[in-house]
Amino acid sequence: MGLTAVLDWLEKEENGANVVGVGHRVVHGGPIYAEPVLMDDATFARLKSFEPLAPLHQPYNLAGIEAAREAFPMAAQVACFDTAFHRRHPFIADTYALPREYYDEGVRRYGFHGLSYEFIHRILRHEEPVLARGKVAVAHLGNGASMCAIKSGKSVGSTMGFTALDGLPMGTRCGQLDPGVVLYLMAEKKMSAAEITDLLYKNSGLKGMSGISNDVRELEASNEQSAKDALDYFVSRVRRNLGGLCAELGGLDCLVLTGGIGENAANVRKAILENLEWFGIQIDFDANARNERIISEKGSPTVVLILKTDEERMIAAHTAELLNLKQPLVPAIT
Ligand code: AMP
Repeated sequence: MGLTAVLDWLEKEENGANVVGVGHRVVHGGPIYAEPVLMDDATFARLKSFEPLAPLHQPYNLAGIEAAREAFPMAAQVACFDTAFHRRHPFIADTYALPREYYDEGVRRYGFHGLSYEFIHRILRHEEPVLARGKVAVAHLGNGASMCAIKSGKSVGSTMGFTALDGLPMGTRCGQLDPGVVLYLMAEKKMSAAEITDLLYKNSGLKGMSGISNDVRELEASNEQSAKDALDYFVSRVRRNLGGLCAELGGLDCLVLTGGIGENAANVRKAILENLEWFGIQIDFDANARNERIISEKGSPTVVLILKTDEERMIAAHTAELLNLKQPLVPAIT
């Protein structure tokens, strides 16, 4: 259902709907917000000050809040952040090797996709409480892609950093890149900041590498070598980052795959997870091909699960919880 249909439905008196709260996905909570927050003017101004940290997303998120305030003036507006789940990272996982003043002014590894990780971890706590208490890696593999290390329920590391460009290659974003490449593009190719932004956010990743598409289904259907190269690169970066996160965790009890690719692309999952028996990952490839919930062999030291993420439901749950509405939209934190 589109937003207009929802608004039309809400406006009809006979439906008896009373909007008491509107939850918003806001990409950046800066160094401050580790939890969702009820919007007031001061908070709005603070979130606006984070626009330079996420110029492609934050202004649109805030425009949504302004529109909702106008449409539902009596309702509470709740901002839920993609960065919040990662806000308790230890300093070492949060900083770059730059002079300290840059960290202090906010140049940090924020990490994103936090609402997805939080949702997955709540589901895990509910369905697999023993695993959830251990060392967990979650791979959110969709058009945007990142991975997160979670220890005893807390995020301890993420592949994304200061912006949502870092880490894994994505549909159209480059993922990890030597900053020297950016210097080269500026100095030798005379590219402007806007041109480089366009290249790295919109014309790189699977789309840029393949020259065909950002969609894994199209790349899998293609016979072009460039499509195969793009998928192979994606797989190799996921595997490399998995190794790094496991070192950070000191082991791995559970690996969860989620997002459009993680939930559906059985061949990509197979390529990511094969030949990792030495690492403690023993995959049941038939279960993988059938997209089953558990795709590791019985007795595999690491249990591998496919779980469907739902960031919107997480936002609705946060909003309901903040407003003390008793609706268990997602199993609550106990
Ligand atoms: P998301 O951003 O999480 O919605 O993921 C979107 C991406 O998931 C798409 O661009 C595809 O690359 C991938 N995807 C979705 N369904 C499938 C599928 N059945 N097989 C392979 N990839 C898929």
